[in-house]
Amino acid sequence: MRQANERLAAHAHIRQVSVHNRADVAANAAERAIRVAWNQLLRMIQAGRADVAILLLDEIRYAPMRTILGHLKSLVKWGHASAVKAVKASVPLGSIKRKVKDGSQLGESRLVIDDRRLSAVGDISEALTLTDILAFFRGDEPPDQDIWSLLFPAFTPEQVDRVVFSGNWRDRITAGTKLGDPGELARIISAGLTFGKTHQEIARDLKPHVQGVVASARRVARTECMRVAQDVQMQAHKQLGGLIIGWQVLATLDQHSRPWHAHRNGQVYYLNPKPGQKGMKQRPTPPDEPMDPAERPPGTSRTAWNCRCTLLPVLSDPSEEVLPQSARKVLSDNASSVVPDTLTMGQWFSRAPLRDQKTLVGVKRYNELKAQLGERPSWAHFIDASGQLLPLDRLSNETARQRTVRVETVRKQLAQRKTAQAQLVTFGFIPGKRNNS
Ligand SMILES: [Zn+2]
Repeated sequence: MRQANERLAAHAHIRQVSVHNRADVAANAAERAIRVAWNQLLRMIQAGRADVAILLLDEIRYAPMRTILGHLKSLVKWGHASAVKAVKASVPLGSIKRKVKDGSQLGESRLVIDDRRLSAVGDISEALTLTDILAFFRGDEPPDQDIWSLLFPAFTPEQVDRVVFSGNWRDRITAGTKLGDPGELARIISAGLTFGKTHQEIARDLKPHVQGVVASARRVARTECMRVAQDVQMQAHKQLGGLIIGWQVLATLDQHSRPWHAHRNGQVYYLNPKPGQKGMKQRPTPPDEPMDPAERPPGTSRTAWNCRCTLLPVLSDPSEEVLPQSARKVLSDNASSVVPDTLTMGQWFSRAPLRDQKTLVGVKRYNELKAQLGERPSWAHFIDASGQLLPLDRLSNETARQRTVRVETVRKQLAQRKTAQAQLVTFGFIPGKRNNS
């Protein structure tokens, strides 16, 4: 189990870069599909074919959907394969084996294989059962496939569809643009041709609507690619069953980060939270915000567009498993000597150029605090304990004493998170008391 999380984290980072690239490719392809349909439509207007031009309005709406759908489907396959590869390279088979055995003794059939995956196989006789896995480990009845494809079966076409269509992204492409009302655009075309407008004039009238579709198609393509990649990765990780005790969120830290996403970087969410720990209701499912609305600023949407956060599984503390005393000693002795390269938002902020600091917190907020403090403010000066930026009026009405108390709390949080993150990537668990938040 040692270093399993460290490896998973490294793989997740590499994988996240590929996901970003794939999301960009999908966004570009969706835009290209709209441009092709748009050019056809212009040619038809030029030819005076209002009827065909009006039909092509539908193509402007459906072409990006078809394109995005194709990209999402291939992303499910790639995402599953890459997530399983990361698990395979990170988590020792022995740990899984031990969990399977423990699970069979406890009669927990759900432990390794998520039953929803089992029932989704279709023909139940083809479904993998715990007995099969145990037989595999005992070696008396080796199945044809290797254990990894048994534990992490590829998605069926139905499962692919379920992942791909679970976001209501098709509605969002047309929402907020006049394409949602095809009658409006059809009127622009037919009235334009009737009143003798040139095709350039008609194109000018239509263009803002089409631009709107391009923008929303790009945004949807990017966000949905991130969602699907994350979803598929989560499903692979869920197959680790009882080995997982929680999840850690990792953010991309820069001036474009949402402040509360940047601040929660390194936060751990437990399946069975103890007092003071965060649980599943508080855990984000990137690109979606957590179920608990207190985890984000009031009025912000549940979907965090272009969110670049990712989740990592937190594996169980090996000291809870049968681990020799000597091995446990090695782990605890190294606890303080290993300092992995983890970064909190506080550190990012102090190293960022002034311009980026101001982009992140807002120029007014920055100037207000600088005036009050008489020196350059730090990240902790701008936020409250939930990681949200303080409104300008609260910043200016706060007394010096209130500010000191608030900043102290935030600094403590940042320090705890840094420790937890360092321990997690080093050992795969948080040693000792589990009340780091
Ligand atoms: Zn995010």
